[in-house]
Amino acid sequence: MTREEHAAREIPFRDKMIETAPRAVIEWMQLEGLKKQIAHALKTPFYSARYAAAGVTGPDFIKTLADIRKLPFTTKNDLRDAYPFGLLAVPKDQVVRVHASSGTTGTPTVIYLTQRDLDLASDTMARSLMAAGGTKDDIVQNMMTYGLFTGGLGFHYGAELMGAMVIPTSSGNTLRQLKFMKDFGTTMIHATPSYLLHLHQAIADEGYRREDLKLRMAITGAEPHSEELRCKIEDKLGIEVYNCYGMSEMNGPGLAFECVFRSGMHVWEDRYIAEILDPETFEPVPDGETGELVLTILCRDAMPLIRYRTRDLTHFITGPCACGRTHRRLARFTGRTDDMLIVNGVNVFPSQIEEVLLKAKGVGANYFIIVEKHGDLDKLTVQVEITPEMFADDARVINALRDRLKSEMSALITINPVIEIKQPGSLPVAEGKAKRVDDRRPKD
Ligand code: AMP
Ligand code: ZN
Repeated sequence: MTREEHAAREIPFRDKMIETAPRAVIEWMQLEGLKKQIAHALKTPFYSARYAAAGVTGPDFIKTLADIRKLPFTTKNDLRDAYPFGLLAVPKDQVVRVHASSGTTGTPTVIYLTQRDLDLASDTMARSLMAAGGTKDDIVQNMMTYGLFTGGLGFHYGAELMGAMVIPTSSGNTLRQLKFMKDFGTTMIHATPSYLLHLHQAIADEGYRREDLKLRMAITGAEPHSEELRCKIEDKLGIEVYNCYGMSEMNGPGLAFECVFRSGMHVWEDRYIAEILDPETFEPVPDGETGELVLTILCRDAMPLIRYRTRDLTHFITGPCACGRTHRRLARFTGRTDDMLIVNGVNVFPSQIEEVLLKAKGVGANYFIIVEKHGDLDKLTVQVEITPEMFADDARVINALRDRLKSEMSALITINPVIEIKQPGSLPVAEGKAKRVDDRRPKD
């Protein structure tokens, strides 16, 4: 099918109406949705305290959509402080699922979903897949990790709702991925950009031929990647690659998604309010200028989140999209306003690594984190200075320390780092603010 045929293809009437609704209708839905969410948020211990302090008494505080700017932000730290139930707006027995961000610090950021919330999340994902040309005839292999991270289950339920046949292989085990792709005739895969490149290499190494595979498209996301990288993957695998944005806090993948014209990701504005703000002044940036994305989820029962600072940097793409959808488009993400690293799709904060080091006996004052490409995947190395006493000790003691640091870190950050033990005083000492991270991954 050509892109034009895909765009003209029959999609459910209700969805088509909403996806192409006039802006005034979308904005009316947003205003009404926001008011409802405020009333709902006031039922949670967190927002009732936060809004009382800010003088937000109820939904009538908001008269127009622009009034959203009078509401305080919600941050990842607020989610941690409210752990475990400070943001729950419904009785616990109505919650049917819990998710959390990939990677975890001491206190995870969790979200709760009722059955209605889950149904809506799956519907958003299914809508996204269909906008990209997915159909019920697709055979979909989901190579994202299943578990607390929403990239696995969130995507899975959306693909099932679309009616596709879903193979939940989860991440890793490349040989089995290839075998299933060949034997089942997989047409669509979902994986991080780095894993897609890795897969291409494995196809060649394992002696598969492109004709053995029916693959036609890949959905990718979870980490920033450039247009050049997309083209490289498309070229090598001979498929179309679609960018998918999401985060656990906002119900997981598919909150913004590329349509078949692949010129930015439509953010589903009947379900989210997207603001792009200057991260210093918190004023909206003019369309087309980069700022921090701040999101409000509409229609979520278990856990309202209003003006959530995503820390992700992007801009709105202006002008109409050739597909006819009226929901605005977000440009490819260029980075973050905090120090969070995304390593093979998993969120890692340097503070998590520091936490393990500070607790360990024999570790010195200085450490350094290096992220680089190892083949097509990311590699995280932690260089650790040890104390002079430890340095004078037996090699077996030092090796045991290395092993312990490695296992404690992988338990906390859910990926395996390489630990390099360094002699005391060998790492550069910063003169000003310590620079602890060197991200050597190519920017394209
Ligand atoms: P998680 O809550 O673990 O799903 O992580 C969400 C974070 O992953 C987002 O805040 C982004 O920083 C990143 N992310 C997700 N999808 C994309 C994407 N398509 N492009 C760039 N970064 C992404
Ligand atoms: Zn479009």
